[in-house]
Amino acid sequence: MTAEIIDGKAFAAKVREKVAGHVDRLKDEHGITPGLAVVLVGEDPASQVYVRSKGKQTVEVGMNSYEHKLEADTSEEDLLALIDQLNNDKDVHGILVQLPLPDHLDSDLVINSIDPAKDVDGFHISNVGLLGTGQKSMVPCTPLGCLMMLREHHGSLSGMDAVVVGRSNIVGKPMAQLLLGDSCTVTIAHSRTKDLPEVVRRADIVVAAVGRPEMVPGDWIKEGATVIDVGINRVERDGKNKLVGDADYESCAARAGAITPVPGGVGPMTIACLLANTVTACCRANGLSEPE
Ligand code: NDP
Repeated sequence: MTAEIIDGKAFAAKVREKVAGHVDRLKDEHGITPGLAVVLVGEDPASQVYVRSKGKQTVEVGMNSYEHKLEADTSEEDLLALIDQLNNDKDVHGILVQLPLPDHLDSDLVINSIDPAKDVDGFHISNVGLLGTGQKSMVPCTPLGCLMMLREHHGSLSGMDAVVVGRSNIVGKPMAQLLLGDSCTVTIAHSRTKDLPEVVRRADIVVAAVGRPEMVPGDWIKEGATVIDVGINRVERDGKNKLVGDADYESCAARAGAITPVPGGVGPMTIACLLANTVTACCRANGLSEPE
């Protein structure tokens, strides 16, 4: 079998187009421009690339982008003061603090100081709790993008066996919650899981979110399964820098029914979902019906 490629880049372009339509309507009919504030502390090169990309795409869909770049040695007090200011700014509908933060800053404290209604990353404990109990929340962007691609590909996910490899708070756990919400039978695997290959072989849906280049080989994949590869790993091949996922693309594509490539799969969907979450937050803040 040769897998169908789930084209996250094309799907993300469609999501952005929809978001741009909602932004136009908010401007024309209500005189409101959604605004997203992104806070970057320090100069981590990968974070700088992500923040630049987020700012550019925010502007491209017609929203306001507010970038706050702080020195690496910024104190917790100053960062919390900035978040407080953004929480109280009515032109800011979404706030994102780019992770990871420098070691001297307490990420949990910082994230939980964001107004949950503006927490477009969905990492605030209130949003985590709302998602876990199936209530209206802000849903973390990467898992949301994965779910959208799975729904688009399969229609209903009800009754499917899903294995999420990775249990981080930002990807693995919320991914599992979303799949459970769509009535999958969900297994969360991690570094202590016994016989990981056998666990993965049971899955109709495999979500690989481990942060280890090409760790999941094709012979772990059930014939016809769908592989969602969240991994973004920079490796050197033949003297060149290359991006690879957490699944070994060639061998997995030979057995899977469908697979997301890296790059061009989950990555583009993440930012598209961030923009969609900002529009949702803006609609909720203004008592307007929110996009589907
Ligand atoms: P973390 O490092 O926070 O979590 C990795 C998880 O993988 C942990 O739960 C860990 O288990 C598990 N794991 C590590 N090694 C193994 C192993 N040998 N066998 C089984 N499980 C293992 O990573 P993130 O969740 O933040 O990110 C995962 C990947 O997704 C990374 O490649 C990251 O770059 C990428 N990513 C991509 C995004 C996108 O937009 N496409 C956004 C966010 C992340 P344990 O808990 O037991 O240690």
